[in-house]
Amino acid sequence: MSVLVLAEVDNGALSPATGRIVAASAELGAVDLLVLGDAAAAQAAAAIAGVQKVLLAASEPMADAISGLLETLAPSYTYLVAAASTLGKDVMPRLAARLDIQPVTDIVAIESPNRFVRPIYAGNALETVSDPQPRHVLTIRASAFRPASGGNAAPVETLSTPVASAARFIAAHRTESDIPDLATAQIVVGGGVSVGSADGFKLIEQLGKTLGAAVGATRAAVDAGYAPNDWQVGQTGKIIAPDLYIAVGISGALQHLAGIQGAKKIVAINTDAEAPIAKIADVVLIGDLFEIVPQLIAELENQ
Ligand code: FAD
Repeated sequence: MSVLVLAEVDNGALSPATGRIVAASAELGAVDLLVLGDAAAAQAAAAIAGVQKVLLAASEPMADAISGLLETLAPSYTYLVAAASTLGKDVMPRLAARLDIQPVTDIVAIESPNRFVRPIYAGNALETVSDPQPRHVLTIRASAFRPASGGNAAPVETLSTPVASAARFIAAHRTESDIPDLATAQIVVGGGVSVGSADGFKLIEQLGKTLGAAVGATRAAVDAGYAPNDWQVGQTGKIIAPDLYIAVGISGALQHLAGIQGAKKIVAINTDAEAPIAKIADVVLIGDLFEIVPQLIAELENQ
């Protein structure tokens, strides 16, 4: 059985999520990786362990065009797979519609070639789905799988398939940042609305920088304009599974917890010892974030 994985390429660089999707997909069969980008991204993709072949295509970064390209490649593959990311959630349902296939989304475990585990009810339950279709369209949660380990030098094949698209790409506006990718970071520092301002979030960013961590935020903090939209963690934001999550001034609403269930250790900093986050945290520091966080940064910098 063969698998085609859609690589995540952002601004010319391969996302760390791709290595995790390849590792998960290798449980299903031999993996080819479709890279929409340049030769450098294709070479990075070819180095991922478990990749059999890289297909390099020049497609406009739009779901319409990408799903059209995947549709033309689909006859050679049993599984068509992408990360359950913004890109995957945009492309794969369109592909499934084009192929008249019921997709299985947000997979967190693969039990067998046609049995997949996925969360439901905002992560409060897990369901096992049996997919009897001859061809499968899947999205996989990168944070639920470890990255592929080891090296590789897979061949790169350049595709010349012309892809028709009704939409036209005009421009991409991106946030430039040297902060690690939130969806795959090993340490994440999250800030809540109690941080009080966009300026206050600089303290959260500083703690993140000291730890080499990604920075996340609650929806309340994002809605208040304190943090950018793509930092939102939770049911309607990013799903993360870091080794350590530090929740700063975050109450622990169900919708936020839905995004951090995969975190291995949780440290909460909160003035309220009764906050819901305190019930699931491994360590709770009770006190004012504006006193505790600077102390934490100073201690870490002294080490
Ligand atoms: P609050 O709940 O107001 O909590 C603030 C916390 O800070 C409190 O625990 C307080 O004790 C503490 N605090 C106050 N001052 C200090 C201080 N000086 N030092 C330390 N601690 C302090 N939310 C998400 O996060 N992600 C989502 O994806 C999401 N999706 C949603 C989807 C739907 C359909 C709905 C209805 C809601 C969603 N929400 C989501 C919102 C969610 O319900 C909560 O409103 C939100 O998570 C609360 O954010 P918060 O913890 O920053 O704020």
